[in-house]
Amino acid sequence: ERFLQVLEGQTDILVPNENNSIPTASASVFYNPEMEMNRDINVAATSVFVQKLIERKGFERENIRYLDAFSASGIRGLRVSKETGISVVLNDIKPEAVELIRQNISRNDLDRTAAAICENANILLHREKFAIVDIDPFGTPSPFLDAAAASATFLLGVTATDTAPLCGAHLKSGVRKYSSVPLNNEFHSEMGLRVLLGSIARETAKYDKGIRPLLSHATRHYVRVYAEILHGAKNADKTVEHIGFLAWCPACGSRETKTGLSVFLDEKCPNCFKNRKIAGPVWLGPLRETEFCDAVVAELDRLPLNKKEAAKKLVVTCKNEADLAFFYDQHLFCEELKISAPPIDPFLEKLRAAGFIATRTHFSGTSFKTDAPADVIKKKLLE
Ligand code: SAM
Repeated sequence: ERFLQVLEGQTDILVPNENNSIPTASASVFYNPEMEMNRDINVAATSVFVQKLIERKGFERENIRYLDAFSASGIRGLRVSKETGISVVLNDIKPEAVELIRQNISRNDLDRTAAAICENANILLHREKFAIVDIDPFGTPSPFLDAAAASATFLLGVTATDTAPLCGAHLKSGVRKYSSVPLNNEFHSEMGLRVLLGSIARETAKYDKGIRPLLSHATRHYVRVYAEILHGAKNADKTVEHIGFLAWCPACGSRETKTGLSVFLDEKCPNCFKNRKIAGPVWLGPLRETEFCDAVVAELDRLPLNKKEAAKKLVVTCKNEADLAFFYDQHLFCEELKISAPPIDPFLEKLRAAGFIATRTHFSGTSFKTDAPADVIKKKLLE
């Protein structure tokens, strides 16, 4: 058999058969089963956003155009077309991929609403506008962000799998790609998400567009962002106000963020007087919109999905995560205090009872966000 059949959501596609298993990165056409939950969330998030466009702008469902700019087998865009009913353009630079996409379109009876194109995504994105633009390239999206920002009229979805450059593990590469200095410390995953959002905000601002992150999530393997596009120079200016810098003290862990174009002149930590490290520019605004997350969870519940429970848990955690930039790691404090880590929920409850904001985060099981200072955090851990 040349192909294997894969079923995700309500969409059934063919992918190349590589010795009876699913294709690896070097296959003629790429398919990664590990991204299924990301695609499940994408279907639900797109469905919610489309409903919003229909209600607020009076659009007809089939007239809303979605571009899956890096389609490979077509799985992302085909799922959107089949499971939300909007029109989708599926593009890939590889002719073999486009041939397979065409087969997968027919296989799903989507010939009326889905079309395949074989082009360099940057050329297509600069030529045509799409209501929703989804970019999911190999590794970094940075060479495509300018064109994606120019093309997207209502929603821009970006996946980045270059977590090492984004998070500061490959520092120079990250600086080259995102024009930002990241910090590779305990909250490096959130750093990556905020570096990417900052970069998207700057790219869209050039076109007098602002962004509102509706949902953003990070794992060890990738970062995914759904940014609503807001039109006009005023919105772009407001967006830019969310970009700023972080000063972090490696000695005591204290943090200070400043938005706008201000820089930190004082490099000393005001808490322990050691030298601080500066990161930025990064996005310091909200990572999600709570009503949007609620609607996505309801949609995930309604749809037949293989990764439903994991997807719901992730979006609920994103929704409940405090609107504060940069999480703490409970284990790091416990190591310093030489104690074993107590259960995280009762510990966060103690912080809340003392009048502070304190929530878990989606970044890891041991992470939390709070506005309590480090000495209070330590005191509550020791109580
Ligand atoms: N979205 C797919 C999915 O969910 O399975 C995976 C896409 S894969 C990570 C990236 C795809 O982008 C590859 O199929 C590759 O051929 C294609 N590609 C690479 N450079 C491109 C470019 N400049 N324009 C369009 N497609 C490109």
